Amino acid sequence: MTDVDRVVVIVFDGLRPDVIENTTPNLHSFAHDALWFTEARSVFPSMTRVATTSFATGHWPMTHGIVNNAFHIPELVRGSALNTASFEHLSRLKAREPVVTCESLGHALAAAGKRMEAIHCGSAGAAYLVNHDVAALQQETFSIHGEASTQTPQTVRRIVSEYGPLPPQDIPKLASLEYANRVFVGSTLTGDVPDVALLWLVEPDTTWHHFGLGSPEAHSVLRAADEVFGNVLDAISRLPGRTTLITMSDHGQITTASEVDITAAMQADGLPASHLPGPEHRLGLTRGSMSEIRSLNGDSGLCAAACDWLMNRDDIGLVFARDDLVESLPGTLPQSLVMHGHDRDAELYFTMRASDETDKWGLPGQCAFISDVELGCGIHGGLNRYELTTTLIVKTPDGRRGRDASPVGLVDIAPTVAELLGVRMSAAGAPLPLFEPRAALHKVEVASTSHAGYSQELRLNLIDGRAYIDHGNRLT
Ligand SMILES: [Zn+2]
Repeated sequence: MTDVDRVVVIVFDGLRPDVIENTTPNLHSFAHDALWFTEARSVFPSMTRVATTSFATGHWPMTHGIVNNAFHIPELVRGSALNTASFEHLSRLKAREPVVTCESLGHALAAAGKRMEAIHCGSAGAAYLVNHDVAALQQETFSIHGEASTQTPQTVRRIVSEYGPLPPQDIPKLASLEYANRVFVGSTLTGDVPDVALLWLVEPDTTWHHFGLGSPEAHSVLRAADEVFGNVLDAISRLPGRTTLITMSDHGQITTASEVDITAAMQADGLPASHLPGPEHRLGLTRGSMSEIRSLNGDSGLCAAACDWLMNRDDIGLVFARDDLVESLPGTLPQSLVMHGHDRDAELYFTMRASDETDKWGLPGQCAFISDVELGCGIHGGLNRYELTTTLIVKTPDGRRGRDASPVGLVDIAPTVAELLGVRMSAAGAPLPLFEPRAALHKVEVASTSHAGYSQELRLNLIDGRAYIDHGNRLT
């Protein structure tokens, strides 16, 4: 492994790699001049803040504790789930316990006297999670949501004084792209460049959620994001020394095909469940293309009824139970198979049923969903292969070019950055094979269960003692 002077990471939130060919000329030509990991995967749930924290720490949710984009902690947030997008909710959690329960790349860099700077256009909570101890480490994260929603308000003040007022958040987020472009190229990649420079673009994720994966708006925002990428490439080419560029996404997206009000349906069948629980509700739910089911009073007695209810419906996908409950809940798969098992984990998780059928744009991947977006628009969170497959393309001096189909994941990125910079870091993932292909062949493990006509399977890829989630399916 050859040391480099710096690593630049650019994230296209939600970018599924099978759209790169047509709409993003700069990214497309970069991909053919770099090493493209064609089987890179996200985490479960394939949600931004879970994925962000695995990216930042090199660990799975069982270790870092951001177990979902939203999860119920009734002692801290009453009447809804704790929303990890909210800086205020994360601050409440931090007042009680560490938000992230392991160290991150930021810690490893700081211990080696190195510096990370992030320019982040996603939610305030996602910006928090790219470097959760950023203030204590005296590093910098710029959040596009302003001074009041960040641990490093001085960074926002510095950037606003130089680049003008924060942009409007209209969708497609073209103004956000334009602003982030100016700041990243003009400030982060100019002068005293940090050891790790991270640019997190919120597109195409936001526009896909609002207009659909193949909409005209999606095409225009992808072109705009690709122009930003071209400008970053130009800026990198002007830097002295050796730079590695990692281009990635945090998850993919699939298209919503049928909306289901799970809260109403459960209540109609006598289960006291809600995503906005009142005193009468005993089970907390979340929304999207997957959900937790959490007993709000610590009594797991309703879990068996909830499992039966889920497995009797055609629109439910996979069902996972806390490992100690699996034996008493036939048909469930253990949470540990999807790398959960943290104190914060709910008793149950389920995904909405998904398929590889093509949507109206000709892209494979559709699912039932609980709400949060419009019918026919994009969503993610579940275990469909097109939600889980991420973009991961790396160009490093003297590194390999071409395509690598070995199993890799978000947990591998922080250890890769650490190794490139000669920094020690412990992680569940391993450095990506940038210079030599992996010697070992991977094995596929299929875990399946069935119960009373319901059956499901989860596929994992095993290599060098590590496991990566490949995808999962409801079978019958
Ligand atoms: Zn995302």
